[in-house]
Amino acid sequence: MSASTANSMHLAYIGFGSNIGDRLKHLQNAIHALSKTEGINLQEISSIYKTDPVGYEAQGQFLNGVAAIQTSLSPLSLLQTLKDIETAIGRQHRIRWGPREIDLDILIYGDLRIQTEKLVVPHPEMHLRDFVLVPLVEIAPDLVHPVFQESIQTLLERLEDDKSVIRTTSVLCSGPT
Ligand code: ADP
Ligand code: MG
Repeated sequence: MSASTANSMHLAYIGFGSNIGDRLKHLQNAIHALSKTEGINLQEISSIYKTDPVGYEAQGQFLNGVAAIQTSLSPLSLLQTLKDIETAIGRQHRIRWGPREIDLDILIYGDLRIQTEKLVVPHPEMHLRDFVLVPLVEIAPDLVHPVFQESIQTLLERLEDDKSVIRTTSVLCSGPT
């Protein structure tokens, strides 16, 4: 890979979750779609965690995880790619924070800070959610949050959250199912 190509790659972290239908299958399909996308190189996938819903609590438990990617896509192209994958997997429009077949969020994109109507990065609630921080600590404990300038490990230690986040034995792979 030439230096200029290497320079155009950015390390980003994607959060994913599902709480409807065959949740593991939805997550597996999402990871597979990401791995097939031009401009995205999957680096690492966390374990899958069984977690309590946040916000609107009268809904089923989620399976959540995070993935590290290297990408040449711009933040907005990456967001569009995630939305396209959500649609392809069959995400239906429902209430905000409600149940979903698949949710793919950009957690962190390099050390960029973005605050637009369509996209906020780092994800504005990631530091408040242990269903994000717990899997992120597994793959990137020393990653520094671009806004708070603290490691993911430290942010998790700070968090006073009583939500249950339980590691499962499920494993996702980037190949087809
Ligand atoms: P949420 O993930 O907050 O539960 P949705 O998945 O329905 O909600 O996303 C709602 C909107 O959030 C998306 O249409 C997208 O434009 C916007 N958004 C803002 N910042 C981000 C981000 N970092 N990652 C993903 N979506 C984002
Ligand atoms: Mg989302």
